Amino acid sequence: MTAWHWLFGDQLGPHFLTPGEPGPAAGAPVVMIEARSVFRRRRFHRAKAHLVLSAMRHRAAELGDRACYVRAETYTEGLRQAVGGAPVTVHHPTSRAAYDLVASMDGVRVLPARGFLLPGAAFRSWAGGRERLRHEDFYRWMRRELDLLMDGDRPAGGRWNHDQDNREPPPSGLRTLGVPTPYRPRESDIDEEVRADLDRWERDEGIRFVGRDGPRAFPASRREALAALHRFVDHRLAGFGPHEDAVLAGDPVMSHSLLSSSLNLGLLDPAEVVAAAEDAWRAGRVPVQSAEGFVRQVAGWREYVWHAYWYFGEEYRHRNALRHRAPLPEWFLELDADAVAARCLSTVLAQVRDTGWTHHIPRLMLLGSYALQRGWDPRAVTDWFHRCFVDGYDWVMLPNVIGMSQYADGGMMTTKPYTSAGAYIHRMSDLCEGCAYRPADRTGDRACPYTTGYWSFVHRHRTRLAANPRTARAVTGLDRLQDIEQVLRAGRRQGGSPP
Ligand SMILES: Cc1cc2nc3c(=O)[nH]c(=O)nc-3n(C[C@H](O)[C@H](O)[C@H](O)COP(=O)(O)OP(=O)(O)OC[C@H]3O[C@@H](n4cnc5c(N)ncnc54)[C@H](O)[C@@H]3O)c2cc1C
Ligand code: SF4
Repeated sequence: MTAWHWLFGDQLGPHFLTPGEPGPAAGAPVVMIEARSVFRRRRFHRAKAHLVLSAMRHRAAELGDRACYVRAETYTEGLRQAVGGAPVTVHHPTSRAAYDLVASMDGVRVLPARGFLLPGAAFRSWAGGRERLRHEDFYRWMRRELDLLMDGDRPAGGRWNHDQDNREPPPSGLRTLGVPTPYRPRESDIDEEVRADLDRWERDEGIRFVGRDGPRAFPASRREALAALHRFVDHRLAGFGPHEDAVLAGDPVMSHSLLSSSLNLGLLDPAEVVAAAEDAWRAGRVPVQSAEGFVRQVAGWREYVWHAYWYFGEEYRHRNALRHRAPLPEWFLELDADAVAARCLSTVLAQVRDTGWTHHIPRLMLLGSYALQRGWDPRAVTDWFHRCFVDGYDWVMLPNVIGMSQYADGGMMTTKPYTSAGAYIHRMSDLCEGCAYRPADRTGDRACPYTTGYWSFVHRHRTRLAANPRTARAVTGLDRLQDIEQVLRAGRRQGGSPP
């Protein structure tokens, strides 16, 4: 009897159905399960729920009679309903909870993961015995292993790393970068049906969402995802890089690819994404630092984060090296951007509320940094990011939030906590113009909450920061402040209320 093949909602591209060892049987019937309990357990952004359901239903429509699409309360119930006791194969799911579930089910054979460039065993053999898992070492090793952007055994363009060209502040006087706009999909009848279902769930079933479900902004089908990839590579990749770390209030996307949700839904294979970037460089259509900057994100950071999630183990999610325990305030949980006077935070919170997306620097240096400075519970921060972002999944959240953003792992992912005073935000964005606060002020009515928060954080963790060569200077700076008591008082006054 041919085994059924089970596709999870983040395994939607053709590469999840390529037969062969170890893959599903050729032409295997497919089962897809829409489990409502997932949406009962957590309060997701409505645009994210919309995107995931729309993408699953688009895939089922593409597969036609080959797919059995089940709407059930739980995965277990749905699977029984669809296949009874028949044998099932499934590719390694992306979360530990889903992996444990499928591994415990009778008759279900778990196949290796797809949707990533490197098998887990290869990462483990690279990592084994190393004291530190430095991203830069991993990335260079990956480039060699996969022969990516290489000229023989030398990096293409003569350098491994173009980060120093890619940290420019925004061009002064400009409200936007002026690069061609990204691809945006057009909604289909499936979106209309999804929206009606979500309305009904909210009305009749008490399922709650957060954020706004505006016109769908991210691809939900393979066709749309390929259109987004081609638009990016053909028209926008050439500008990727120099302003990667900059933020403009009027240009939320800048040169970023907006491909994370398509990669994480499995609509795009990272191998085709990095190949497209390399081909564009080899054809002379984009400079090497743009191709390298982008390949670094996909073949470097994305792979590193995926493998770190499994390598660091289940206990990683409970880490709280800085002993931060404060709850997230209501205005943050509700994405209430209008309650916030700090222009930077209000701007990015509004982006999250309206689209479920903002680029890397707002995630790290505005949202994450604010949480870190206030000592919010890292698990609650992780849960917030997971629920509120269209590209958020357990595997990508834990290393990015517990590790990179909240330093709750005490330095397994990064060599120092990422946080800054208002001066950095002022240098790297146009957000301070017209703000109710002043980036350099650390006391008084116009004290910047990032500046007071930064010094409060350094004060609270001075022993740890003084012992780390990468952060010791911050403690020296703290010791030079004459007005530290007033700064700490200003920070306390700002407390949990919206800044
Ligand atoms: C606190 C925090 C939370 C984050 N949460 C997520 C998340 O839920 N999902 C997610 O995919 N990324 C997450 N990231 C990483 C990164 O911010 C997003 O991948 C990126 O902003 C998505 O936009 P983009 O597709 O335009 O990316 P680009 O800037 O165009 O980068 C290209 C691609 O590189 C990959 N990438 C780059 N950095 C990372 C990284 N650190 N981890 C994983 N992939 C990376 C993504 O697939 C992305 O599409 C997070 C980062 C931080 C600091
Ligand atoms: S002054 Fe401070 S709060 Fe206002 S935008 Fe600048 S960094 Fe943000």
